[in-house]
Amino acid sequence: MNVLVTGGAGFIGSALIRYIIRQTNFTVVNVDKLTYAGNLSSLESVAKDSRYRFEQADICDAPAIKRIFQQYRPHIIMHLAAESHVDRSITAPDQFIQTNVVGTYVMLEQAREYWYSLPKDEQSAFRFHHISTDEVFGDLPHPLTSHLPSQYLPLFTEGSRYQPSSPYSASKASSDHLVRAWHKTYGLPVVITNCSNNYGPYHYPEKLIPLTILHALSGKQLPVYGKGHQIRDWLYVDDHAEALLLVASKGEVGETYNIGGHNEKQNIEVVTAICELLDEISPKPTVYAAQITHIDDRPGHDLRYAIDASKIQNQLGWQPKETFESGLLKTIHWYINNQNWWQQLSPNQEASNLNLCKQAYKDTPEADFL
Ligand code: NAD
Repeated sequence: MNVLVTGGAGFIGSALIRYIIRQTNFTVVNVDKLTYAGNLSSLESVAKDSRYRFEQADICDAPAIKRIFQQYRPHIIMHLAAESHVDRSITAPDQFIQTNVVGTYVMLEQAREYWYSLPKDEQSAFRFHHISTDEVFGDLPHPLTSHLPSQYLPLFTEGSRYQPSSPYSASKASSDHLVRAWHKTYGLPVVITNCSNNYGPYHYPEKLIPLTILHALSGKQLPVYGKGHQIRDWLYVDDHAEALLLVASKGEVGETYNIGGHNEKQNIEVVTAICELLDEISPKPTVYAAQITHIDDRPGHDLRYAIDASKIQNQLGWQPKETFESGLLKTIHWYINNQNWWQQLSPNQEASNLNLCKQAYKDTPEADFL
């Protein structure tokens, strides 16, 4: 089985490739442009494996994608390449439209042409798996503002209405619509997954959990948007990788599967949990929570996301293995023990992150990245 993964040098893509090489005898070709978020050192453990190949290419480059499909003859395409940071989408949305919308269109058109060229039996076994986010569904009622008791608060199901709030989530919603249209109109055998917030090792330190861990350890302020009441449903990245391979190989064509961790946490709870674990693992005279700083909220910030993952559990037998507590502990230990990975981010990358973070955080000093 040949699997083609786009965005395999990113956070989830690299976890997926490490998982496939470890758990199967499949070959994997990783197609990645290596933007600031792509990092080949996340794939060091598989780089020398004869079943792994890397192609540096932009998914918007149709001739390059055509050549790669013809050369590697994939049975499954797992499409993860995207611009993925909401703050960046607010300050500079154009690259999100290019990669997430135009890039997905190019992938679909090239996949369609390649799929048409396959023999009939290979055509029916072929899969285009589009990896998306729960953010396409927009906002859910929050326990602090809803009149409903918490156990009756709604969750995102596969039938939830699309109501994206940010340029990032709108671009991902657009790509989901394109994928469904290519299935309905052309019969391309697609599956779609919409997943909640991931965390774990090799996560680029612009996102909440790695940023908090690294800022805490280096004595910097821990920025929290507004009061930090925003709720996200956290999933350990290796659990996501397992779910993705299951859907790509056993999911029903044309279907969507929601993936989530059953871990609804307010941002402030996440930051506090990291501080408390660090107080135990790496104690210092003052508690880490003293570094928490509340900053202006992000424009258009959704209050709550939460996933109903019963479809993938009932139909494909998947459920997450990590609890939030066990996954967070593993993640903190990983960042402490793998400083080489995050220290090697180039000064140029740091400078550009700093500028973007400063814009997003309205030039507050807590945006002092890394
Ligand atoms: P990431 O930002 O860590 O990685 C994205 C990867 O895509 C990088 O390696 C980058 O180099 C590559 N890339 C970007 N533009 C490209 C282009 N034009 N051509 C080729 N490669 C390109 O993202 P991630 O967190 O690993 O997310 C992967 C996918 O999963 C995304 O589609 C995202 O929307 C989705 N997702 C992420 C989360 C999450 O919590 N991180 C949750 C649900 C869904």
